[in-house]
Amino acid sequence: MISKKMVELVKNGSAIRAMFEDGKIMAEKYGKENIYDFSLGNPSVIPPESVKNAIFDIIKEQPETEIHGYMNNRGYEEVREKIAFNINGKQGTNFNKNNIIMTVGAAGALNITLKTIINPGDEIILFAPYFGEYDNYISNYDGIPVIVKPNFENFSIDFEDFEKKISNKTKALIINNPNNPTGVVYSENDIKKLAEILESKQKEFNTSIYLISDEPYRELVFNDEVIPYITKYYRNTFVGYSYSKTLSLPGERIGYLVIPSEMDYYEEIFGALGVANRILGYVNAPSLFQKVISKCLDDTSDLSVYEENKNILYKALREYGYECVEPKGTFYMFPKCFIKDDKAFCDRAKKYRLIIVPGSTFSCPGYFRIAYCVDKNTVINSLESFKLFAESYKF
Ligand code: PLP
Repeated sequence: MISKKMVELVKNGSAIRAMFEDGKIMAEKYGKENIYDFSLGNPSVIPPESVKNAIFDIIKEQPETEIHGYMNNRGYEEVREKIAFNINGKQGTNFNKNNIIMTVGAAGALNITLKTIINPGDEIILFAPYFGEYDNYISNYDGIPVIVKPNFENFSIDFEDFEKKISNKTKALIINNPNNPTGVVYSENDIKKLAEILESKQKEFNTSIYLISDEPYRELVFNDEVIPYITKYYRNTFVGYSYSKTLSLPGERIGYLVIPSEMDYYEEIFGALGVANRILGYVNAPSLFQKVISKCLDDTSDLSVYEENKNILYKALREYGYECVEPKGTFYMFPKCFIKDDKAFCDRAKKYRLIIVPGSTFSCPGYFRIAYCVDKNTVINSLESFKLFAESYKF
């Protein structure tokens, strides 16, 4: 018999994965080109040529025992050093290898962080709408998610609600910039305000409150938007990064975590994170791909298609009467449903061969997510369906 906790987790499932599976069944029935599957955040563009070259070079040049062997649970020292210096060059920070831990993607970075800091019953603040897996990751360590509601007119942070939700049990908050599912970017002013509130609450409760910045979409921003590097504004910050989206390598499971030396309890935390990588069974981040990304630190896939897709889709949806905040990054948008019941809405969208994900998956019912990391033709061909779907609610 499986555990009671797993019974619940299996029952709740992942709506995103469920929609993706539905999409596959529909594609078999009606033909792939006739289904507009916007369910999953799987990059549609190939990795840059430099990734392929790096794989071949490493395999040709380096001893196989080293390429495929065990290493320090925190990752190869030379890779961590290279990443630290690369961040310093871009952000004016002062990191070295002892501020970097290689992780199994952003998911691995979040899990080792939460494993390291949560005592059962500790509260972790989340800003709705947010990536639904955060709830599961927090539950892995018996933490309690506490949800801050958004300002619905632009999906910015409701600072008043945030302040109210901080208590002496608050261990951390997770922010995701730019945001999945809205595509919203939190500005430097937002980050300064967050930091100010956190500093004052730390004093009030005499605690350390950690800010976990989940940044798999950092480079995926439009019109030269800038994502602030939060360690510069608040020292108790972890930054989780991943190559899943910007180098189009989600299956390779590679990312890293940044831990500034100025953080409260830095020594203990840095030590514990390495142990967490080991005992959660990750052991270390994939060895070949640590080396691969260390040769591609300034590269990304051709991300321009996502902005093109956003422009086409956003303009058309507004014309058809959908209400939506214009995304400034990621490859998602989060329009409002025409009815309250977002699950019924997304179910009905299937009649129009549209696979979209209910907002309740992101703790924000009444909305739906479109993952437009698909080829441009799929976006263009889907427009008629979005139009007819909207009209079906009006007439
Ligand atoms: N965080 C957010 C906000 C995401 O959207 C995702 C994946 O979609 C992840 C974390 C997990 O990313 P990774 O594949 O790097 O584990």
